[in-house]
Amino acid sequence: MAIFDARQKDIAEMIETDVVRSKWQSWEWQMRHSVRSIESFESLLKVTFDDDERAELQRTLDRFPLSVTPYYLSLINREDYRNDPVFKQSFPSPSELIISEHDMADPLAEDTDSPVPGITHRYPDRVLFHVSNVCSMYCRHCTRKRKVGDMDRIPVRKEVREGLEYIREHTEVRDVLLSGGDPLMLTDSYLDWILTELREIEHVEVIRIGTRMPVVLPYRITDDLVNMLKKHHPLWINTHFNHPAEITTSSAVALRKLADAGIPLGNQSVLLAGVNDCPRIMKSLVHKLVKNRVRPYYLYQCDLSEGLSHFRTPVGKGIEIIESLIGHTSGFAVPTYVIDAPGGGGKIPVMPNYLISWSTNKVVLRNYEGVITTYKEPDSYEPTFCDRNCERCELQLHEESGEDEYRSVGIAELLNDQDDIISLIPDTNERVNRRTTADEDPSD
Ligand SMILES: *Cc1c(COP(=O)(O)O)cnc(C)c1O
Repeated sequence: MAIFDARQKDIAEMIETDVVRSKWQSWEWQMRHSVRSIESFESLLKVTFDDDERAELQRTLDRFPLSVTPYYLSLINREDYRNDPVFKQSFPSPSELIISEHDMADPLAEDTDSPVPGITHRYPDRVLFHVSNVCSMYCRHCTRKRKVGDMDRIPVRKEVREGLEYIREHTEVRDVLLSGGDPLMLTDSYLDWILTELREIEHVEVIRIGTRMPVVLPYRITDDLVNMLKKHHPLWINTHFNHPAEITTSSAVALRKLADAGIPLGNQSVLLAGVNDCPRIMKSLVHKLVKNRVRPYYLYQCDLSEGLSHFRTPVGKGIEIIESLIGHTSGFAVPTYVIDAPGGGGKIPVMPNYLISWSTNKVVLRNYEGVITTYKEPDSYEPTFCDRNCERCELQLHEESGEDEYRSVGIAELLNDQDDIISLIPDTNERVNRRTTADEDPSD
């Protein structure tokens, strides 16, 4: 597909007569002409819905607004639009109004795990920093659907300063993920300011940006933007392609600019029923991604956000996809399939099982072909004694960087021998709670 092909020219000219290629490729032009109503969608796609359907769609829009860039809309195959992956991701479905019993407004507890507005601090060493509440289009499968259209504005400097202050005070934060909304909705100079502030914080080692711009508005990746971004290395970018049809000439150009600027690129897909719930589609997607120097990073099980039930697949579909990739294609083309734990437990990887059984000196494994094999373990192994004093350890981690302050938590803490914790017990456990009360007051 060329950068300004016949279909795109046709759409552009319906929006504004005499549109030249340079206008189409201007991200400001694309934003100014975002498609926000059923009627404009119909006329640009050259389709007509009947009155009942239009009324139903309008009710959906009243709850979850519509917005799509002319560029992204131009990818829709008009001949079979109802089955089109871009149409399904951008055009409302009355099914969005179905709220099922287990749906939640904020399934990932992002608002609960937020110490100051804009920051979600879930993991020990990294934070999510929401610097924008706006997107260049509204994905119908958005996990933050509750916020879409609600607070259609960019946080002011004062709010961003609060987030920066939190990061400055928390020296354990070594990785900051700018998210939103889409951080690339900010102007270059505003984003430059945020990145400069972050870079001045000594303990921030890595900055990441999560953006869907290379997919839905690749023209946002301008030379000016890229020249600004590369001043702030190490900077990583994760984007969000869900279907091979989204990787066009225009998005390939955007990805090339970013990769040429030395920015490592990753991709986070969401497994969506009717869009990409197929091993062949996912294999084609990951191959196209790595050809464009994008490493498939995560494949997400669709969250339990409200209004997404029609997009959800069983977990088995994701496992089937991963089964079809591991061993069958390049290791770096295989994303990690994760379920983001409802209630805020974070991302939990789920995998096909490869370990079939084991004994004290042997494990039994199966490979991707179904061949069952054994791995003989050492008959004797002397573990290195660890008292968390890296200075004295034979393994010689002699760094200045304070790696020896490392404290393990969770299951990793159960596995080490460094303290006497032998179990993790939910605080609702009645048996143990009875015991604690008795301990506290022996006279009872
Ligand atoms: C996904 C996520 C991160 C980053 O997780 P990685 O596994 O390091 O990519 C950080 N914070 C929150 C709240 C997240 O949802």
